[in-house]
Amino acid sequence: MSYIDIVPIGNTKEPYLSFLRQTLPQVFKIETRIRPHLVDLSAVYDPNRNQYNSSALLFQLIQDPPPETLKILGVTELDLFIPIFTFLFGEAQLNGIGALVSTHRLHNKFYGIPDDEELLKIRLLKEAIHELGHTFGLIHCFNLRCVMNTSTYVEDIDQKSAHFCRSCEREIFRKGK
Ligand SMILES: [Zn+2]
Ligand SMILES: [Zn+2]
Repeated sequence: MSYIDIVPIGNTKEPYLSFLRQTLPQVFKIETRIRPHLVDLSAVYDPNRNQYNSSALLFQLIQDPPPETLKILGVTELDLFIPIFTFLFGEAQLNGIGALVSTHRLHNKFYGIPDDEELLKIRLLKEAIHELGHTFGLIHCFNLRCVMNTSTYVEDIDQKSAHFCRSCEREIFRKGK
């Protein structure tokens, strides 16, 4: 048995984790489980930016995975950055084991609009599928509806679907697991 491990980082709300645990197997045809993994957040926090270094966090996340772990998806409410970008919705290793997503900038309230939990969950799912797609070797897709289309703003996430286009889907299942 191999799993996509969903790893909460910081105070990730349980409903978000269980939503991903239920929905991701339908997409990837792989079982999911929620697995705790200790990370040192103080080591990746940048006080000047008041944000967390995504790549450094991802590096901690992939240390010593259990043998039955196929992929690791970190889920956090923390605000992520890498030095060349102001912020990130998520990050992943191309053809690697690890992916990371943040809900921080997926909340409507971040943009001064009343929160919408259902919309938040859909955005989170899209970003989780997108980042996991990278771990299965997919690169960015030009199809605006494809979940592998790149998203700079939250509006970009809303205009794409939660599905792979036909060519990305062919690619992901051809490369196999
Ligand atoms: Zn991407
Ligand atoms: Zn595509």
